[in-house]
Amino acid sequence: MILRRKTVTVRIGRVPIGSDSPIAIQSMTNTDTADVAATVRQVQELAAAGSELVRVTVNNDEAARAAPEIVGRLREAGLEAPIIGDFHYNGHLLLARHPDCARSLDKYRINPGNVGMGRHHDENFRRMVDVALENEKPIRIGVNWGSLDQALLTRLMDANAALAEPREAHEVLMEAVLQSGLQSAELAEEYGMPHDRIVLSAKVSAVPDLIQLYRKLAAQCDYPLHVGLTEAGMGLKGIVASTAALSVLLQEGIGDTIRVSLTPRPGGDRTEEVLVCQQVLQSLGIRNFVPQVSACPGCGRTTSTLFQELAEKIQNELRYRMAVWKEDRPGVENLRVAVMGCVVNGPGESKHAHVGISLPGTGEEPKAPVYVDGRHVRTLKGAGIVEEFLEILEEYVDHKYGRELMTEKRRSV
Ligand code: SF4
Repeated sequence: MILRRKTVTVRIGRVPIGSDSPIAIQSMTNTDTADVAATVRQVQELAAAGSELVRVTVNNDEAARAAPEIVGRLREAGLEAPIIGDFHYNGHLLLARHPDCARSLDKYRINPGNVGMGRHHDENFRRMVDVALENEKPIRIGVNWGSLDQALLTRLMDANAALAEPREAHEVLMEAVLQSGLQSAELAEEYGMPHDRIVLSAKVSAVPDLIQLYRKLAAQCDYPLHVGLTEAGMGLKGIVASTAALSVLLQEGIGDTIRVSLTPRPGGDRTEEVLVCQQVLQSLGIRNFVPQVSACPGCGRTTSTLFQELAEKIQNELRYRMAVWKEDRPGVENLRVAVMGCVVNGPGESKHAHVGISLPGTGEEPKAPVYVDGRHVRTLKGAGIVEEFLEILEEYVDHKYGRELMTEKRRSV
């Protein structure tokens, strides 16, 4: 059991963040926010995949004008996920020029490294905080080491250089990221922002740095923390690096909302970042989202691809069926399914699952025993093994999680 770090609770629209609230999944659109139709469509896709908060960039007047329409259309369509505005450089101007935009968004992300230099830094920051206060919105102080407050960094570097034994420059850089977040939150409170309307994040792109940084943040404040590796990268690298960082921190109870910042392939599916977040939380036993399939990796005992195909088909079928099951099969996300390749671990692993199948390995008799709640219930043979196994699964789900059999509804999906 993971002991969560104690924090204040911040309400973002209808979603509470922090303390005992479920760790919330965030994502961010990559459409041009000024393109209302495309942005609405992508927010809907992200939310349908399981994103509980969605951020959109508000980078110019066109985007600021589009924001209220985007939020309005989403609410009309029944989508309640909070929509967060991401501001850099000109947020103070856009929020002042577009009061409808300020009203429509559920939270403002402010990057303290991008609100202006010198004297203007505090003025611009204050103007954004003032708009948040007028509209009773929470803010996220979102530091990023790629856009760090240079004045603060210079001060810390100068102070470090004056020490008898100066620290490594990288250590000072990390300290500046930390201090930028904490000092900006303190400043926001001085300007009147309630303590329980601030979320903090301090993102860097190296896993060990991120872990150290968030441990320090967690020890020094009780604001809810938004955790994610910035610029995680593409594909496998981005997924593994993000998972490594999130796993360590979440296991230590650090992190109240998470994002996996994957770079999609051209034309790739933006919802992948949401699915990775779900899988991280589910693998750590923190939240369940979809039934889990345990499949063996296969080895020289499985020279056919039958069990790989079966595992993939079952995984796909479960995701597809979840669209219906999440409405009328509460608890089905806790279902565990095993698809195993041979007799070595097949029966044992299948018995540990709710429903499991042990396929015949090379040289074994061509039959597949099926286990339900640890008991051997049937043995499947022949070309229809996949379909018959899926029927057994469906029956199990109906029986265990079904409030009523909704055969007609299923057919129409
Ligand atoms: S269960 Fe059988 S096929 Fe699968 S990895 Fe183990 S020995 Fe190989």
